[in-house]
Amino acid sequence: MLRRIMLISLAVFIFIEWGPLTNERSKYGIAKGNPFIKEVVLTFDDGPRETGMQELDAVLSSFDVKATFFLVGKFAERYSNITLMLHRQGYELANHTYTHPRLYQDNTPHIVRQAERCDEVLERLGIRKTRFLRPPGGHFNMKIFNAMRRMNLRLGLWSLNTADYTGRPPEEIYNLIAGSVRNGDIILMHSGTPNTVEALPRVIRELKRRGFTIIRLEDMWNGGRT
Ligand SMILES: [Zn+2]
Repeated sequence: MLRRIMLISLAVFIFIEWGPLTNERSKYGIAKGNPFIKEVVLTFDDGPRETGMQELDAVLSSFDVKATFFLVGKFAERYSNITLMLHRQGYELANHTYTHPRLYQDNTPHIVRQAERCDEVLERLGIRKTRFLRPPGGHFNMKIFNAMRRMNLRLGLWSLNTADYTGRPPEEIYNLIAGSVRNGDIILMHSGTPNTVEALPRVIRELKRRGFTIIRLEDMWNGGRT
């Protein structure tokens, strides 16, 4: 009887935690990794920014952490030297549209164009075209799916939102991550937020202390640790 209850519990757990995500992942993209592996991804949206990027890189580099940056194409173009620096440092650079519009309000050709223009900026800089797109605000609909399918892009969403863009203090960012991080989490943060940079050393130390490996989104997509 006990064994039966345990098996049912396990099946329910797998269905809730992993089953639907597997389907979701194979069709459209990824919002969370494998809940059985102690891995997380750190993602930084809306960059590159004019200031704060060197500081962010300095922290990540000091821990040898390879993060994933969702870049806004027009900023990647304007601050191309920072974009190239991020690329040289081995970060994963992914698509966050060209102008950061409300993509869900656009029609399919516009959505395609937004994603293409961001890709084109990266291509002009000699940066490998990335497969992940994160729609601004994380909102998506069928028009966005269709556009992405056409472009062979995948949704790169998140499972843990630090809401660091609200200007919350470093302590809160740390507490939120330390208090709720789970296996396979994709953590959402932003470029150009000084409080995030300040919180990061403590965050990374705590993640490492608990045995988490910090990997890039593409590595998580490919099944985690390689
Ligand atoms: Zn954004």
